[in-house]
Amino acid sequence: MRKIIFMLTSLFLLGACTGKTSQPASNASAEQDVPDASFEYKVDKFADVEILRYYVPGFKTLPLEQKELIYYLSQAALEGRDILWDQHNSLNLTIRRVCEALYENYMGDKSSEDWKNFETYLKQIWMANGVHHHYSEDKIMPKFSQEYFVSIVKGVDPGRMPFRDGMAADETLNEILPLMFDPKVMPKRMNQASNADIVATSGINFYEGVTQKEVEDFYNAMKDPNDNTPISYGLNSKVVKKDGLVTEEVWKIDGMYGKAIERIVGWLEKAESIAENDSQKEVINTLISYYKTGDLKTYDDYSIKWAQDTLSRVDFINGFTEVYADPLGMKGTWESLVNFKSEEASKRTEIISANAQWFEDNSPMDSRFKKEEVKGVSAKVITVAMLGGDCYPATPIGINLPNSDWIRRDHGSKSVTIDNITSAYENAGRGSGFNEEFMWSDVEREQSAQYGILTDNLHTDLHECLGHGSGKLLPGVDSDALRAYGSPLEETRADLFALYYLGDAKLVELGLLPNEDAYKAEYYKYIMNGAMTQLTRVQLGKDIEQAHMRNRSLISNWVIEKGKADKVVELAERDGKTFVVINDYAKVRELFGTLLAEVQRIKSEGDFEAGKALVEAYGVKVDQKLHKEVLDRYAGLNLAPYKGFVNPVYKLVKNADGKVTDVTVSYDEDYVTQQLRYSSQYSVLPHKN
Ligand code: ZN
Repeated sequence: MRKIIFMLTSLFLLGACTGKTSQPASNASAEQDVPDASFEYKVDKFADVEILRYYVPGFKTLPLEQKELIYYLSQAALEGRDILWDQHNSLNLTIRRVCEALYENYMGDKSSEDWKNFETYLKQIWMANGVHHHYSEDKIMPKFSQEYFVSIVKGVDPGRMPFRDGMAADETLNEILPLMFDPKVMPKRMNQASNADIVATSGINFYEGVTQKEVEDFYNAMKDPNDNTPISYGLNSKVVKKDGLVTEEVWKIDGMYGKAIERIVGWLEKAESIAENDSQKEVINTLISYYKTGDLKTYDDYSIKWAQDTLSRVDFINGFTEVYADPLGMKGTWESLVNFKSEEASKRTEIISANAQWFEDNSPMDSRFKKEEVKGVSAKVITVAMLGGDCYPATPIGINLPNSDWIRRDHGSKSVTIDNITSAYENAGRGSGFNEEFMWSDVEREQSAQYGILTDNLHTDLHECLGHGSGKLLPGVDSDALRAYGSPLEETRADLFALYYLGDAKLVELGLLPNEDAYKAEYYKYIMNGAMTQLTRVQLGKDIEQAHMRNRSLISNWVIEKGKADKVVELAERDGKTFVVINDYAKVRELFGTLLAEVQRIKSEGDFEAGKALVEAYGVKVDQKLHKEVLDRYAGLNLAPYKGFVNPVYKLVKNADGKVTDVTVSYDEDYVTQQLRYSSQYSVLPHKN
């Protein structure tokens, strides 16, 4: 399941809004609490990354107990950072610690090109939580030589270096150099190539000494095809071979990652003691027992209680959650996100939720695949207060959880749109020149300036609160039937649902859109991004790998191909540059509906072959000529294709008796300081786990 959507497009679009304010910057700004003039959205820029800062409107005026609750949950959010690093690769923590020790202790020449490149490398691996790129999953190759690296390691007093268990520099270097410098060693964090053993050839630390076949057999033996409420098999463990037997090492308080989990639990216990209400207390308490036992039935229990707690103002995610990083789509990477509800902005999603059944009933999918009764789609707009694990520094703008299909079916899910992150993208992206370069004409640029933000937020709302929750599997269909294609197809389905309804008069009727043309802004931007501009995130010569990018490519290229004959939508050339041109928006909407019906059929029937064919034909391969053109045009704009964030800093204020009297928030920590502080303050795991 892929429930998180990332900010892929808007950051580009927003650049064109220079000087024009159509919609309010975001609903968050309606809350009277806005950053002062000294607030810096832009924090750092290196390689292909720009680091931004987000503001937390409304925090200062929360009641003290809620601020304190956010503080404890935020600490719990930061304690899991190293778990993610180790999940991404078993040598990540060693490499990071060696690099950080060099950064802090090397006394040699720091003005050289080599040193600058070393600094950039360290910033890059911080961004990726490991040595593989956070998005492309390709190994980040240092722009300094192995010889240089060895020389600076040896140039620092060994007493100041974090070599493992008294290991000498050479032993540590022997261990990490191949991964850092040899392009053939674990070139990808996750290998999805259809002809390879994706377990054996992936860099992630979810499997050791086992083949894909052995892992699949291991879990298939556990699964009961008649179980209507299966646990999320394998979500919280590493699979290893011990004495010739395949077995699991469970991530729990007295198991793997136990030291970090113990700290997480410690903060959760404090949070539980000042929970807003009994149901939230129960949510936190159940999560604690899951961390203690590692029992996935308890995890389901927690997920249900979490999904049903819709009344608390403060909310959080904390745990092994999304399965994007696992080639087999089972292992959850550790993540956390602490937030509180933005009451004003949530009115938008409440309208959508209240009409969920109407949307389900009127969708273009076959009635056999529709839900007779859409359950508990709760949706809200939130303000993020802290990002951790797999939500940091790169972060989602919308989330829909839990992932378990049967929990969604029987108990519903919770869906959120994150306003203050969108707002930061938008403020940082003004005046980039992006739309001037890639949009066909002023018509598209103006509709984007006028309705781009609104329709983009609505797209996220519809994708999260209705898209993922819509439709059903036919009885007996295995929810894993689409295997590696399941994730991009699930995102395709949710996006198509959102796109289809954006163009529906119902949205105007519900007061969500001001008129029946506004949706065009999102249609144009979506296809332009999916067919062209998202390629700025792919290296020339490479396939598209990431699930959301595959989905966007699939939809856009399918629609362009089907719409070409009648000139509904096409790729046109002008002055040697390619542009998306949409001539008939209503017909584009019909095409979205047709594809939605087919993708829903594939999911509902578990039609693996048809799903594979769609993804492979439209979602993976890249037109090399177009790709090069897009990269060249993009390079001319001098923008960073990826964004990450630094977190605010919260501090408890106590009186003479040690009683908490306030929680302050500040926004002045830079990227390097924050990463180094996290590494010293929240780092209790051994080098290797
Ligand atoms: Zn999604």
